[in-house]
Amino acid sequence: MIVTFLGTAAANAFPEAFCKCKNCEQARVLGGKSLRKRSALLINDDLIIDLGPDIMAASQMHACSLTNVHYCLQTHPHADHLDLSHLLSRSAEYGTVGTPVLNFYASAETLQRASETFERDLAGYKLLSPDAEESLNVKFHSIGPLKPFSFGNYRVTAFLANHAPNMGAMLYEVEAKGHSIFYGTDTAILLEETWQALHQFQSQFDLVILDHTYGPRQPGSDHLSAHQVIEHVQRMRQEGLLKSNSRAFATHIAHEGNPAHPELVAFAQQNNYEIAYDGLVLEV
Ligand SMILES: [Zn+2]
Ligand SMILES: [Zn+2]
Ligand SMILES: [Zn+2]
Repeated sequence: MIVTFLGTAAANAFPEAFCKCKNCEQARVLGGKSLRKRSALLINDDLIIDLGPDIMAASQMHACSLTNVHYCLQTHPHADHLDLSHLLSRSAEYGTVGTPVLNFYASAETLQRASETFERDLAGYKLLSPDAEESLNVKFHSIGPLKPFSFGNYRVTAFLANHAPNMGAMLYEVEAKGHSIFYGTDTAILLEETWQALHQFQSQFDLVILDHTYGPRQPGSDHLSAHQVIEHVQRMRQEGLLKSNSRAFATHIAHEGNPAHPELVAFAQQNNYEIAYDGLVLEV
């Protein structure tokens, strides 16, 4: 699998456009890998995780086409992960041509939230209906935790995130051709039932991507901190959930407690994990 990070920031991007904190100012001076858009991931050219608000900009800036995206795994409906206007803009109704049907996978709670927002704020009609599916060129699939499902060459297992409990937030394992990726944002420390489920499914990851909202000097709370990422990667390694040559990357990086990219990379290097950046391409 080819993995492209379309965005690696938390909810308010990095730098936060209105913020003059030290980290944001440093990121503006350095530019490049220190400039982060809201988190989303592209796998090969046909599977996207999250229809985030910055995927259009990411597609332009990193020259990665989204024209062949057939599948979306939606983690949850928070606005930094789901911009429903993409469903309108990619439809024939808006003049977009040559677009394959988008198979959109999300929990029932996420679909319900999306439907309410879509009808109230965007389009005035019901999202979860055969008519909407046809006019938007999309097919909605309700998925739940610990019930693996397949499409194309992929096999996916969803795990319950420790995040937004009423929204059915999911973390995803994506497998293809004997390789496996864990996409773990947004979440606070993984629920014990999620650890148990990873063992139950005998997961062994080549690549782990984890929430890193909070920085080296911050405690974790509703999201993971740097030290919690370190602990999670250690525990995954100790418990045999990582292949011997696996790599662990941080994403969903917020400006408040995380320094700009080079300094954060130096911290991560000392602690056996890596920092993703927008446009980073990995082969798994
Ligand atoms: Zn988020
Ligand atoms: Zn800031
Ligand atoms: Zn969230």
